[in-house]
Amino acid sequence: MSTPVTAAMLYNLVACPHRVTMDLSADSAQRDEPNPFVELLWERGQLYEREVIAGLQTPFTDLSRYAADEKERLTLEAMQRGDPLIYAGRIQSDRMLGDPDLLRKEGSGYIAGDIKSGAGEEGPEDNLKPKIHYAVQLGLYTDILERKELSAGRRAFVWDVRGDEVPYDFQASYRKRDPRTLWEDYQEALHQADAIIKGREVTLPAYSAVCKLCHWYSACVKRLKELGDLTMIPELGRSKRDVMYATVHSVTAFAAADPAKFIAGKRTVFPGIGPDTLHKFHDRARLLIVADARPFVRTPIQLPDYDRELFFDIEVDPMRDICYLHGFVERRARDNATEEFVFTFADDITPEAERKAFADAWSCIRERRPCVIYYYSKYERTIYRKLQEKYSDVCSAEEVEELFDPAHAIDLYNDVVKKSTEWPTWDFSVKTLAKYLGFSWRDTHPSGAASIEWFHRWIETGDPAIRQRVLDYNEDDCRATRVLRDALDSLPVLPGGSA
Ligand code: SF4
Repeated sequence: MSTPVTAAMLYNLVACPHRVTMDLSADSAQRDEPNPFVELLWERGQLYEREVIAGLQTPFTDLSRYAADEKERLTLEAMQRGDPLIYAGRIQSDRMLGDPDLLRKEGSGYIAGDIKSGAGEEGPEDNLKPKIHYAVQLGLYTDILERKELSAGRRAFVWDVRGDEVPYDFQASYRKRDPRTLWEDYQEALHQADAIIKGREVTLPAYSAVCKLCHWYSACVKRLKELGDLTMIPELGRSKRDVMYATVHSVTAFAAADPAKFIAGKRTVFPGIGPDTLHKFHDRARLLIVADARPFVRTPIQLPDYDRELFFDIEVDPMRDICYLHGFVERRARDNATEEFVFTFADDITPEAERKAFADAWSCIRERRPCVIYYYSKYERTIYRKLQEKYSDVCSAEEVEELFDPAHAIDLYNDVVKKSTEWPTWDFSVKTLAKYLGFSWRDTHPSGAASIEWFHRWIETGDPAIRQRVLDYNEDDCRATRVLRDALDSLPVLPGGSA
């Protein structure tokens, strides 16, 4: 039998179709070592599933100790008997293979469910939506049940990390102004996976944030460079690369072209890309290929003038839903010799410890005001709003909004770097830009994902060396933000771009 479409394949496809190609056909010798954070996620998922199953109050059929054909046979027998709940079964039909965590009898058929150690939906609280990478997996199970005439309908469920059952209705559309249903999303993913397996669709690597956690990272970066792929241009991305690809293949070709030839009136020949965006990408392409290209500022930057500056960065464990570290590098009178790292740390994972770290951080900021606060991306503000809701005795919602007032709190990424600057780099992360500017982290593998894994190991072991590694990493992130802030002062202003 040829390779079946699996739920894991669809999950990966949603993040990157090329991942499916690589998993199916790349030389395994090219795989990077497994990322410790990805392994941690997997372990936590397994652990959570075991906890949920151990705590089940209702009787269920447990097929977890069986494998392959025997598991599939026993699953079918259990459904034919009408067992109310089946754990760890296997179902298969028409070159589709599914291992749903749960199959639950409803009426005359079954619906499938998965146990997830994450939230069952995503988005703001007042506009929660299904997670597409969960939906495609559940869609596959539902499709198999339907083809075997064992389905109770096009719906499924997730038992999520909060202990909630989150329904997935495949007939519903959940996008504004787009009537497409979740079932259509699933089918699109299924057809693409099938086309990749059968060689009808050839995929290309595309540089994106997910690459850094992927085991094909080194192989794909090498290939991207060989191809001169357009996704090396910051923010261009897979979908824009795909619409440009028939006309322009590489960064070098794009940089050498006159962008005017792709523009007609208020449009470009590339659907979804306007003339201004095309010019911006063209400038970025030139920065990537011109020897000794230097970063520049498109519009003059005005930053608040305060004697005291705080460079601020927090660390959060999203799996435990805890903000465990608030770090600040404080500087006076723009003199680096005055720099001092101050932090508050939750010494365990209880709400009391999280509240204390937040309250101490709040006091720390208040004691240092008036000052300007620099942070990188909206994450700090989002988490402070959330912490305020959780611990409303620490401060009011109005005080949090006032703290992040742009008059004295600067989101260096969204309000400055993204809006007004250009860099000869593949992305605008603080890691990439500070490294470009010559800053180096003390840790050899610094990343937000890695720090979550370190925090987890510190919780497990209490090893003070691991705690210090987390603190050093956070301090270096704060200093990197300072290095970037200072570099902005010396960038040339080129309103018309680098050309
Ligand atoms: S490294 Fe990136 S492009 Fe390559 S397979 Fe992984 S996610 Fe896809």
